[in-house]
Amino acid sequence: MVLRSRASAVTGREALAAAPHGGAAVIAARHWRDVRPGDWPLAHFSPGEMASRGDGSLRLAVAAGERLDSLRRRLGKPLIVHSAYRDPAHNARVGGAPLSRHKAGDAFDIRAEGIRIPRKELLAAAVECGFTGLGLYRGFLHMDCRPQKARWTHGGRRVLELWT
Ligand SMILES: [Zn+2]
Repeated sequence: MVLRSRASAVTGREALAAAPHGGAAVIAARHWRDVRPGDWPLAHFSPGEMASRGDGSLRLAVAAGERLDSLRRRLGKPLIVHSAYRDPAHNARVGGAPLSRHKAGDAFDIRAEGIRIPRKELLAAAVECGFTGLGLYRGFLHMDCRPQKARWTHGGRRVLELWT
C-alpha cells in the first residue's frame, strides 16, 4: 500500500501538486515495490534506490528527491546512492544518529569513490542544488535538507583535505 501525506483519492503528480505545505509532500510505502510508476516523481532514481536497505520500506521527501535529481542533471553523470531512507531498526543497526535525517527521508549518501566526479565538484554542486546539511566522509558525501545549514567532517583533517 502506498501512503501519502494527503489526498489519497488523487494520484501521481496531481497529489504532489495538491500537497498543502509547498513541496513538503512525502511518498511512503511499506515496501518500495508497492510504489506505482505513475506515482514516482524522480527521473534519475528508482524507488529501490531510495528505499531502506533494512526492510525495503520507503519514505521520500519529494522536494529533497527533486534536489537529488537536479544534482544528477547538473553533473551529467550517474550518482551511486549508498544510503537514502533508513527504517528505524536499520538506522540503529548501522549506527545512525537517533534523529538522523535518513529516517525523515530527506538525506542521501552519495558514493565519492569509483565515480568520475571529483569530490570538490560534487560538493560544490550539492550546495548549488540546495542541500543544507553536508557531511564529508572518506568514501561518500552525506547530503540532507534540514532547515538550517550544517557542515561536518568525519575523519579529521585528512578527510577534510580530500574534499576542499
Ligand atoms: Zn548520511
